[in-house]
Amino acid sequence: MSQDLYELLGVDRGADADTIKKAYRRLARQYHPDVNPEPEAQERFKEISVAYEVLSDPGKRAAYDRGGDPFGGMGGGFGQGAGFSFTDIMDAFFGGAGATGGRGPRPRERRGQDALIRLEVELAEAAFGITREIKVDTAVLCSTCHGEGAAPGSHPIPCETCRGAGEVAHVQRSFLGEIRTLRPCAACRGYGSIIPDPCRECSGDGRIRSRRTLTVKIPAGVDNGTRVQLTGEGEVGPGGGPAGDLYVEIHIAPHPTFTRHGNDLHCTVTLPMTAAALGTTLTLPTLEADVVEGDESETGLEQSFDLDIRPGTQSGAEQVLRGRGVPGLRGGRGDLVVTVVVETPTKLDPRQQELLRQLAALREEEAPSGQVRPSQKSMFGRIRDAFNQH
Ligand code: ZN
Repeated sequence: MSQDLYELLGVDRGADADTIKKAYRRLARQYHPDVNPEPEAQERFKEISVAYEVLSDPGKRAAYDRGGDPFGGMGGGFGQGAGFSFTDIMDAFFGGAGATGGRGPRPRERRGQDALIRLEVELAEAAFGITREIKVDTAVLCSTCHGEGAAPGSHPIPCETCRGAGEVAHVQRSFLGEIRTLRPCAACRGYGSIIPDPCRECSGDGRIRSRRTLTVKIPAGVDNGTRVQLTGEGEVGPGGGPAGDLYVEIHIAPHPTFTRHGNDLHCTVTLPMTAAALGTTLTLPTLEADVVEGDESETGLEQSFDLDIRPGTQSGAEQVLRGRGVPGLRGGRGDLVVTVVVETPTKLDPRQQELLRQLAALREEEAPSGQVRPSQKSMFGRIRDAFNQH
């Protein structure tokens, strides 16, 4: 014991029990590891707990004042204070828990649960990010009792049945002798204290359900099922305990044009047979077109782009446009894959039929034999290869 215990608590040697209790309570609120995460605070808390343990016990205090070992024959109690939870200490002041030596009263204040809500966004909003207002229904701290559960002007009082311990001893006689077991006190449900006049707003729970509006920032690149975490925006716990987290799960609405695969976008364009044979240039909308308002020259974002269709393009051909997909959550951007579907004309008038017959004759295609290929898949593979070679 290098330091003077009275100095540790900041009280003088003649301080009465009440002054010592108050001093310790004030320091515990400041240094308990549950409220102060600093490593030095933990050490300091141990010291003040030991000081309090000695000075609050008349026997130990007298031994200490005589210069002796206050823990003589007790098996050593130094540092035990660090094992108390903050709530244990606070409850000890209300009810003198620990006298029965059990696990002590259970805290009224507990951490709240996490909450999960679904948020549907458009594909472009998921791709480029968006800030949205969301409504959430969760338990929030009761503003009438500030979580204590007691009506204004009243406070929880120690349970008379268990004298604040939260547990009562049950003694059973058997042929082996008496068997003592500790059970949670039925009168206070193990809390060690009773709320004589519960808060009317929250019925003593310390929290009420409430609908709030939150602003949530959805980062660019989120995908279906991505969960955005909002720390401390979940359910407030019983007794006004710290809130859990809120998770916003992203669901992307189907897009009329684009389908998303990872960070790539896929779309299909249909072309008349003649355009596929002769080649053409198509103007396609970008995904940016969904979010950009105003002139392209002002925003610098392209709302459309030209896609060149080479002469002789086959149905099923794919064209990959690098960097026109969805931005990734960790940077980079996926590709846009355009699949061309060539449409065979259906309602031909007599003149059109005649022209096609002439074309067929010129190409010596009047009586095609048809070529049997191993499988559909390899046929498309061959088409793609041919397409990419041009
Ligand atoms: Zn309340």
